[in-house]
Amino acid sequence: MALLVLKFGGTSVATIPAIENVANKVSQEIKLGHKVAVVVSAMAGVTNQLVSYCSSISQLYDSKEYDAVVASGEQVTSGLLALALQKRGVKARSWQGWQVPIVTNDVHGKARIKGVETDTLHESLNTGEVAVIAGFQGIAPDGRITTLGRGGSDTSAVAVAAALKAERCDIYTDVDGVYTADPRIVNRAKKIPRISYEEMLEMASVGAKVLQTRSVELAMKEKVPLQVLSSFDGKLGSDLPGTMVMDEAEIVEQEVVSGVTHSRDEAKVTLRQLPDVPGVAAKIFGPLADSAINVDMIVQNVSADKAKTDLTFTVTRADLPKTLDVLKGVAAELPGLQVESSADVSKVSIIGIGMRSYVGVASRMFKTLAEKGINIQVITTSEIKVSVLIGEEYTELAVRALHSAYGLDQE
Ligand code: ASP
Ligand code: MG
Repeated sequence: MALLVLKFGGTSVATIPAIENVANKVSQEIKLGHKVAVVVSAMAGVTNQLVSYCSSISQLYDSKEYDAVVASGEQVTSGLLALALQKRGVKARSWQGWQVPIVTNDVHGKARIKGVETDTLHESLNTGEVAVIAGFQGIAPDGRITTLGRGGSDTSAVAVAAALKAERCDIYTDVDGVYTADPRIVNRAKKIPRISYEEMLEMASVGAKVLQTRSVELAMKEKVPLQVLSSFDGKLGSDLPGTMVMDEAEIVEQEVVSGVTHSRDEAKVTLRQLPDVPGVAAKIFGPLADSAINVDMIVQNVSADKAKTDLTFTVTRADLPKTLDVLKGVAAELPGLQVESSADVSKVSIIGIGMRSYVGVASRMFKTLAEKGINIQVITTSEIKVSVLIGEEYTELAVRALHSAYGLDQE
Protein backbone atom coordinates (compact mmCIF):
# COMPACT_ATOMS: atom_id res chain seq x y z
CA MET A 1 0.00 0.00 0.00
CA ALA A 2 1.67 3.15 -1.19
CA LEU A 3 0.70 6.65 -2.21
CA LEU A 4 1.53 7.16 -5.87
CA VAL A 5 1.34 10.14 -8.19
CA LEU A 6 0.83 9.19 -11.85
CA LYS A 7 1.31 11.79 -14.57
CA PHE A 8 0.00 11.30 -18.09
CA GLY A 9 1.31 13.52 -20.89
CA GLY A 10 -0.53 14.87 -23.92
CA THR A 11 -0.08 11.84 -26.19
CA SER A 12 -1.27 9.54 -23.36
CA VAL A 13 -4.61 11.41 -23.20
CA ALA A 14 -4.81 12.45 -26.87
CA THR A 15 -8.09 10.64 -27.64
CA ILE A 16 -10.99 9.07 -25.78
CA PRO A 17 -9.58 5.53 -26.30
CA ALA A 18 -6.25 6.79 -24.91
CA ILE A 19 -8.04 8.19 -21.84
CA GLU A 20 -9.83 4.85 -21.39
CA ASN A 21 -6.41 3.16 -21.50
CA VAL A 22 -5.16 5.55 -18.80
CA ALA A 23 -8.23 4.77 -16.68
CA ASN A 24 -7.37 1.06 -16.93
CA LYS A 25 -3.87 1.69 -15.62
CA VAL A 26 -5.13 3.81 -12.73
CA SER A 27 -7.75 1.15 -11.85
CA GLN A 28 -5.03 -1.53 -11.78
CA GLU A 29 -2.98 0.49 -9.27
CA ILE A 30 -6.10 1.01 -7.13
CA LYS A 31 -6.80 -2.75 -7.23
CA LEU A 32 -3.26 -3.32 -5.91
CA GLY A 33 -4.36 -1.27 -2.89
CA HIS A 34 -2.50 1.96 -3.62
CA LYS A 35 -3.72 5.48 -3.03
CA VAL A 36 -3.49 7.35 -6.32
CA ALA A 37 -3.35 11.00 -7.35
CA VAL A 38 -3.20 11.56 -11.10
CA VAL A 39 -1.89 14.64 -12.89
CA VAL A 40 -2.95 15.09 -16.51
CA SER A 41 -1.81 17.22 -19.45
CA ALA A 42 -4.11 18.57 -22.12
CA MET A 43 -4.87 16.34 -25.13
CA ALA A 44 -1.89 16.44 -27.53
CA GLY A 45 -2.00 19.55 -29.70
CA VAL A 46 -4.69 21.30 -27.67
CA THR A 47 -2.38 23.69 -25.82
CA ASN A 48 -0.78 24.73 -29.13
CA GLN A 49 -4.22 25.42 -30.53
CA LEU A 50 -5.20 27.50 -27.48
CA VAL A 51 -1.96 29.48 -27.66
CA SER A 52 -2.60 30.23 -31.32
CA TYR A 53 -6.15 31.43 -30.57
CA CYS A 54 -4.63 34.01 -28.20
CA SER A 55 -1.98 35.20 -30.61
CA SER A 56 -4.44 35.41 -33.49
CA ILE A 57 -6.37 38.02 -31.48
CA SER A 58 -3.27 39.92 -30.46
CA GLN A 59 0.48 39.26 -30.50
CA LEU A 60 0.76 41.29 -27.30
CA TYR A 61 -1.92 39.52 -25.33
CA ASP A 62 -2.63 40.09 -21.64
CA SER A 63 -0.91 37.20 -19.88
CA LYS A 64 -3.69 36.78 -17.28
CA GLU A 65 -6.21 36.09 -20.05
CA TYR A 66 -3.70 33.89 -21.89
CA ASP A 67 -3.57 31.74 -18.73
CA ALA A 68 -7.37 31.66 -18.50
CA VAL A 69 -7.45 30.30 -22.06
CA VAL A 70 -4.54 27.84 -22.11
CA ALA A 71 -5.30 26.30 -18.68
CA SER A 72 -8.61 25.03 -20.08
CA GLY A 73 -7.01 22.09 -21.92
CA GLU A 74 -6.12 20.36 -18.66
CA GLN A 75 -9.57 21.08 -17.21
CA VAL A 76 -11.11 18.99 -20.00
CA THR A 77 -8.82 15.96 -19.56
CA SER A 78 -9.13 15.93 -15.76
CA GLY A 79 -12.92 15.74 -16.01
CA LEU A 80 -12.85 13.13 -18.78
CA LEU A 81 -10.48 10.86 -16.87
CA ALA A 82 -12.63 11.15 -13.72
CA LEU A 83 -15.63 10.05 -15.82
CA ALA A 84 -13.70 7.12 -17.32
CA LEU A 85 -12.68 5.98 -13.82
CA GLN A 86 -16.24 6.29 -12.47
CA LYS A 87 -17.44 4.13 -15.39
CA ARG A 88 -15.05 1.43 -14.09
CA GLY A 89 -16.51 1.65 -10.59
CA VAL A 90 -13.51 3.58 -9.26
CA LYS A 91 -14.31 6.62 -7.12
CA ALA A 92 -12.73 9.66 -8.73
CA ARG A 93 -12.92 13.46 -8.60
CA SER A 94 -11.26 16.12 -10.77
CA TRP A 95 -9.34 18.99 -9.20
CA GLN A 96 -8.38 22.24 -10.91
CA GLY A 97 -5.29 24.09 -9.70
CA TRP A 98 -7.38 26.57 -7.70
CA GLN A 99 -9.34 23.79 -6.01
CA VAL A 100 -6.32 21.94 -4.58
CA PRO A 101 -5.05 24.74 -4.32
CA ILE A 102 -1.66 24.76 -6.07
CA VAL A 103 -0.44 28.21 -5.11
CA THR A 104 1.99 29.95 -7.46
CA ASN A 105 3.53 33.40 -7.80
CA ASP A 106 1.90 35.90 -10.15
CA VAL A 107 4.25 35.53 -13.13
CA HIS A 108 1.50 34.63 -15.59
CA GLY A 109 2.51 32.30 -18.43
CA LYS A 110 5.49 30.90 -16.52
CA ALA A 111 4.50 30.92 -12.87
CA ARG A 112 6.45 29.10 -10.18
CA ILE A 113 4.77 26.87 -7.60
CA LYS A 114 5.02 28.22 -4.05
CA GLY A 115 3.08 25.49 -2.30
CA VAL A 116 0.56 22.69 -2.67
CA GLU A 117 -2.18 22.51 -0.03
CA THR A 118 -2.63 18.83 0.90
CA ASP A 119 -5.26 18.65 3.67
CA THR A 120 -8.32 18.29 1.46
CA LEU A 121 -6.42 16.12 -1.04
CA HIS A 122 -5.43 13.72 1.73
CA GLU A 123 -9.04 13.60 2.97
CA SER A 124 -10.18 12.61 -0.50
CA LEU A 125 -7.39 10.04 -1.02
CA ASN A 126 -8.11 8.49 2.39
CA THR A 127 -11.66 7.67 1.29
CA GLY A 128 -10.20 5.66 -1.59
CA GLU A 129 -11.05 8.32 -4.15
CA VAL A 130 -8.66 9.00 -7.03
CA ALA A 131 -7.75 12.69 -7.24
CA VAL A 132 -7.43 13.68 -10.91
CA ILE A 133 -5.51 16.95 -10.90
CA ALA A 134 -5.25 19.31 -13.87
CA GLY A 135 -1.54 19.80 -14.53
CA PHE A 136 0.16 22.95 -15.81
CA GLN A 137 -2.01 25.31 -13.73
CA GLY A 138 -2.20 26.99 -10.37
CA ILE A 139 -3.62 30.02 -8.64
CA ALA A 140 -1.87 33.35 -8.04
CA PRO A 141 -2.09 35.14 -4.67
CA ASP A 142 -4.80 37.41 -6.12
CA GLY A 143 -6.96 34.41 -7.05
CA ARG A 144 -6.33 34.39 -10.81
CA ILE A 145 -5.47 31.23 -12.76
CA THR A 146 -1.80 30.85 -13.68
CA THR A 147 0.10 28.42 -15.90
CA LEU A 148 3.60 27.09 -15.35
CA GLY A 149 5.19 27.37 -18.80
CA ARG A 150 5.15 24.81 -21.62
CA GLY A 151 5.68 21.25 -20.47
CA GLY A 152 4.73 22.38 -16.97
CA SER A 153 2.54 19.46 -15.99
CA ASP A 154 5.69 17.40 -15.27
CA THR A 155 6.47 20.03 -12.64
CA SER A 156 2.88 19.95 -11.34
CA ALA A 157 3.20 16.19 -10.84
CA VAL A 158 6.51 16.40 -8.99
CA ALA A 159 5.25 19.24 -6.79
CA VAL A 160 2.12 17.25 -5.89
CA ALA A 161 4.22 14.13 -5.22
CA ALA A 162 6.58 16.09 -2.97
CA ALA A 163 3.74 17.73 -1.04
CA LEU A 164 1.89 14.42 -0.56
CA LYS A 165 5.17 12.68 0.29
CA ALA A 166 4.38 10.10 -2.37
CA GLU A 167 6.46 6.98 -2.61
CA ARG A 168 6.99 7.49 -6.35
CA CYS A 169 5.97 9.75 -9.20
CA ASP A 170 5.37 7.84 -12.44
CA ILE A 171 5.65 9.97 -15.57
CA TYR A 172 3.79 8.12 -18.32
CA THR A 173 4.73 9.30 -21.79
CA ASP A 174 5.22 8.01 -25.36
CA VAL A 175 8.69 6.51 -24.77
CA ASP A 176 9.37 3.59 -22.45
CA GLY A 177 12.29 5.18 -20.64
CA VAL A 178 15.51 7.13 -20.95
CA TYR A 179 18.00 5.60 -23.39
CA THR A 180 21.80 5.50 -23.56
CA ALA A 181 21.45 7.33 -26.91
CA ASP A 182 18.69 8.22 -29.35
CA PRO A 183 17.47 4.79 -30.56
CA ARG A 184 16.72 6.31 -33.98
CA ILE A 185 20.47 6.79 -34.42
CA VAL A 186 21.96 3.97 -32.40
CA ASN A 187 19.99 0.78 -32.87
CA ARG A 188 21.94 -0.87 -30.08
CA ALA A 189 20.97 1.82 -27.55
CA LYS A 190 19.70 0.43 -24.24
CA LYS A 191 17.07 1.59 -21.81
CA ILE A 192 18.77 2.90 -18.66
CA PRO A 193 17.23 1.20 -15.61
CA ARG A 194 18.40 3.79 -13.05
CA ILE A 195 19.84 7.26 -13.53
CA SER A 196 20.71 10.02 -11.05
CA TYR A 197 18.89 13.36 -10.96
CA GLU A 198 22.09 15.14 -11.95
CA GLU A 199 22.63 12.99 -15.03
CA MET A 200 18.99 13.42 -16.00
CA LEU A 201 19.37 17.20 -15.72
CA GLU A 202 22.42 17.15 -17.97
CA MET A 203 20.58 14.90 -20.44
CA ALA A 204 17.61 17.25 -20.49
CA SER A 205 19.81 20.27 -21.06
CA VAL A 206 21.57 18.68 -24.03
CA GLY A 207 18.58 17.48 -25.91
CA ALA A 208 16.96 14.40 -24.37
CA LYS A 209 13.63 16.17 -23.88
CA VAL A 210 11.68 13.58 -21.90
CA LEU A 211 11.04 15.69 -18.81
CA GLN A 212 10.73 19.41 -18.24
CA THR A 213 14.07 20.47 -16.70
CA ARG A 214 12.36 22.26 -13.83
CA SER A 215 10.56 19.09 -12.82
CA VAL A 216 13.87 17.24 -12.47
CA GLU A 217 15.37 20.10 -10.43
CA LEU A 218 12.38 19.99 -8.12
CA ALA A 219 12.50 16.19 -7.82
CA MET A 220 16.20 16.41 -6.93
CA LYS A 221 15.60 19.08 -4.31
CA GLU A 222 12.65 17.25 -2.76
CA LYS A 223 14.11 13.76 -3.31
CA VAL A 224 11.05 12.48 -5.18
CA PRO A 225 11.82 9.21 -7.01
CA LEU A 226 10.61 9.52 -10.61
CA GLN A 227 9.91 6.84 -13.15
CA VAL A 228 9.71 7.54 -16.89
CA LEU A 229 7.61 4.90 -18.67
CA SER A 230 5.31 4.37 -21.62
CA SER A 231 1.54 4.36 -21.39
CA PHE A 232 1.29 2.36 -24.61
CA ASP A 233 3.11 -0.91 -23.96
CA GLY A 234 0.64 -2.44 -21.53
CA LYS A 235 3.02 -2.25 -18.58
CA LEU A 236 2.15 -0.96 -15.11
CA GLY A 237 4.22 1.53 -13.09
CA SER A 238 4.27 -0.66 -9.98
CA ASP A 239 6.17 -3.35 -11.91
CA LEU A 240 8.91 -0.72 -12.50
CA PRO A 241 9.35 -1.27 -16.25
CA GLY A 242 10.72 2.21 -17.00
CA THR A 243 13.74 4.32 -16.07
CA MET A 244 14.01 5.34 -12.42
CA VAL A 245 15.42 8.82 -11.82
CA MET A 246 16.76 8.82 -8.28
CA ASP A 247 19.40 9.87 -5.79
CA GLU A 248 22.85 8.76 -6.91
CA ALA A 249 23.58 7.28 -3.47
CA GLU A 250 20.90 4.66 -4.18
CA ILE A 251 22.36 3.57 -7.50
CA VAL A 252 24.64 0.66 -6.79
CA GLU A 253 26.17 -0.05 -10.17
CA GLN A 254 27.26 3.24 -11.63
CA GLU A 255 28.47 3.40 -15.21
CA VAL A 256 31.38 5.70 -16.03
CA VAL A 257 29.37 7.07 -18.92
CA SER A 258 25.59 6.61 -18.78
CA GLY A 259 24.64 8.12 -22.08
CA VAL A 260 25.64 9.88 -25.29
CA THR A 261 23.39 12.72 -26.37
CA HIS A 262 23.35 15.05 -29.33
CA SER A 263 21.71 18.27 -30.33
CA ARG A 264 21.51 19.69 -33.84
CA ASP A 265 19.89 22.83 -32.57
CA GLU A 266 23.22 24.66 -32.45
CA ALA A 267 24.87 27.57 -34.20
CA LYS A 268 28.43 28.79 -33.75
CA VAL A 269 29.56 32.40 -33.69
CA THR A 270 33.22 33.43 -33.79
CA LEU A 271 34.40 36.95 -33.07
CA ARG A 272 37.88 37.84 -34.32
CA GLN A 273 40.12 40.81 -33.61
CA LEU A 274 38.62 41.46 -30.19
CA PRO A 275 40.66 43.81 -28.01
CA ASP A 276 42.15 41.80 -25.11
CA VAL A 277 41.15 44.22 -22.36
CA PRO A 278 38.82 44.00 -19.34
CA GLY A 279 35.13 44.44 -20.03
CA VAL A 280 34.98 43.08 -23.59
CA ALA A 281 33.13 39.87 -22.72
CA ALA A 282 30.61 41.88 -20.71
CA LYS A 283 30.11 44.22 -23.69
CA ILE A 284 29.18 41.24 -25.85
CA PHE A 285 27.25 38.95 -23.52
CA GLY A 286 25.40 41.74 -21.69
CA PRO A 287 23.37 42.82 -24.74
CA LEU A 288 22.81 39.16 -25.74
CA ALA A 289 21.37 38.42 -22.29
CA ASP A 290 19.24 41.56 -22.49
CA SER A 291 17.76 40.18 -25.71
CA ALA A 292 16.97 36.87 -23.92
CA ILE A 293 19.50 34.94 -26.03
CA ASN A 294 20.78 31.90 -24.21
CA VAL A 295 24.51 31.40 -24.83
CA ASP A 296 25.77 27.87 -24.29
CA MET A 297 29.40 26.93 -24.99
CA ILE A 298 31.94 29.75 -24.72
CA VAL A 299 35.67 29.61 -25.47
CA GLN A 300 38.17 32.43 -25.51
CA ASN A 301 41.82 32.04 -26.26
CA VAL A 302 44.72 33.83 -24.55
CA SER A 303 45.98 36.34 -27.06
CA ALA A 304 49.39 35.69 -28.58
CA ASP A 305 50.28 39.36 -28.85
CA LYS A 306 48.45 40.56 -25.70
CA ALA A 307 46.43 42.89 -27.93
CA LYS A 308 43.79 40.95 -29.85
CA THR A 309 41.99 37.68 -29.23
CA ASP A 310 39.26 35.40 -30.64
CA LEU A 311 36.05 34.34 -28.94
CA THR A 312 33.70 31.54 -29.98
CA PHE A 313 30.29 30.74 -28.54
CA THR A 314 27.14 28.83 -29.43
CA VAL A 315 23.46 29.73 -29.43
CA THR A 316 20.39 27.85 -30.64
CA ARG A 317 19.82 27.96 -34.39
CA ALA A 318 16.61 29.91 -33.96
CA ASP A 319 18.50 32.60 -32.06
CA LEU A 320 21.27 33.03 -34.66
CA PRO A 321 19.65 35.84 -36.70
CA LYS A 322 18.82 37.78 -33.54
CA THR A 323 22.36 37.18 -32.22
CA LEU A 324 23.95 38.56 -35.39
CA ASP A 325 21.66 41.55 -35.20
CA VAL A 326 22.65 42.30 -31.58
CA LEU A 327 26.32 41.92 -32.54
CA LYS A 328 25.90 44.54 -35.26
CA GLY A 329 25.05 47.00 -32.51
CA VAL A 330 28.01 45.86 -30.41
CA ALA A 331 30.42 46.11 -33.36
CA ALA A 332 30.11 49.90 -33.36
CA GLU A 333 31.93 49.95 -30.03
CA LEU A 334 34.61 47.42 -31.04
CA PRO A 335 36.34 48.69 -34.19
CA GLY A 336 37.90 46.03 -36.41
CA LEU A 337 35.66 43.27 -35.03
CA GLN A 338 34.99 40.41 -37.46
CA VAL A 339 31.96 38.20 -36.99
CA GLU A 340 31.76 34.70 -38.49
CA SER A 341 28.92 32.25 -37.98
CA SER A 342 27.80 28.81 -39.01
CA ALA A 343 24.67 26.79 -38.39
CA ASP A 344 25.87 23.41 -39.68
CA VAL A 345 27.28 22.27 -36.36
CA SER A 346 25.99 19.93 -33.72
CA LYS A 347 26.85 19.21 -30.12
CA VAL A 348 27.62 15.69 -28.91
CA SER A 349 27.96 15.01 -25.19
CA ILE A 350 28.89 12.14 -22.92
CA ILE A 351 27.28 12.15 -19.49
CA GLY A 352 27.98 10.13 -16.36
CA ILE A 353 28.53 10.59 -12.63
CA GLY A 354 31.29 7.98 -12.81
CA MET A 355 33.44 10.63 -14.52
CA ARG A 356 34.10 12.18 -11.15
CA SER A 357 36.12 9.19 -10.03
CA TYR A 358 37.70 7.87 -13.24
CA VAL A 359 40.51 9.45 -15.22
CA GLY A 360 40.87 9.27 -18.99
CA VAL A 361 37.17 9.57 -19.76
CA ALA A 362 37.53 12.74 -21.86
CA SER A 363 40.68 11.57 -23.60
CA ARG A 364 38.91 8.43 -24.76
CA MET A 365 36.26 10.65 -26.31
CA PHE A 366 38.86 12.68 -28.21
CA LYS A 367 40.72 9.56 -29.35
CA THR A 368 37.49 7.95 -30.58
CA LEU A 369 36.56 11.02 -32.60
CA ALA A 370 40.10 11.30 -33.99
CA GLU A 371 40.01 7.70 -35.19
CA LYS A 372 36.88 8.56 -37.17
CA GLY A 373 38.54 11.65 -38.61
CA ILE A 374 36.06 13.99 -36.89
CA ASN A 375 37.37 17.45 -36.15
CA ILE A 376 36.44 18.97 -32.78
CA GLN A 377 35.62 22.66 -33.01
CA VAL A 378 34.82 23.52 -29.39
CA ILE A 379 35.05 21.55 -26.13
CA THR A 380 33.32 22.26 -22.83
CA THR A 381 33.16 20.20 -19.66
CA SER A 382 31.32 20.01 -16.38
CA GLU A 383 31.92 17.61 -13.52
CA ILE A 384 29.77 14.92 -15.12
CA LYS A 385 29.68 15.91 -18.81
CA VAL A 386 31.99 16.50 -21.76
CA SER A 387 30.53 18.20 -24.83
CA VAL A 388 32.11 18.74 -28.22
CA LEU A 389 30.94 20.81 -31.13
CA ILE A 390 31.47 19.08 -34.49
CA GLY A 391 30.33 19.42 -38.09
CA GLU A 392 26.69 18.44 -38.34
CA GLU A 393 27.34 15.80 -40.99
CA TYR A 394 29.34 13.78 -38.44
CA THR A 395 26.61 13.66 -35.76
CA GLU A 396 25.48 10.05 -36.30
CA LEU A 397 28.99 8.74 -36.80
CA ALA A 398 30.19 10.40 -33.59
CA VAL A 399 27.25 9.26 -31.45
CA ARG A 400 27.58 5.65 -32.65
CA ALA A 401 31.35 5.54 -32.21
CA LEU A 402 31.16 6.98 -28.69
CA HIS A 403 28.32 4.67 -27.73
CA SER A 404 30.54 1.68 -28.61
CA ALA A 405 33.69 3.19 -27.14
CA TYR A 406 32.13 3.47 -23.68
CA GLY A 407 30.72 -0.06 -23.80
CA LEU A 408 27.10 1.02 -24.00
CA ASP A 409 26.06 -1.11 -26.99
CA GLN A 410 23.42 -3.72 -26.28
CA GLU A 411 24.78 -7.25 -26.74
N1 ASP B 1 -0.33 21.17 -21.88
C1 ASP B 1 0.84 21.93 -21.53
C2 ASP B 1 1.78 22.05 -22.71
O1 ASP B 1 1.51 21.50 -23.76
C3 ASP B 1 1.53 21.40 -20.33
C4 ASP B 1 2.08 20.01 -20.48
O2 ASP B 1 1.62 19.21 -21.29
O3 ASP B 1 3.01 19.67 -19.75
O4 ASP B 1 2.77 22.70 -22.62
MG1 MG C 1 5.46 17.04 -21.66
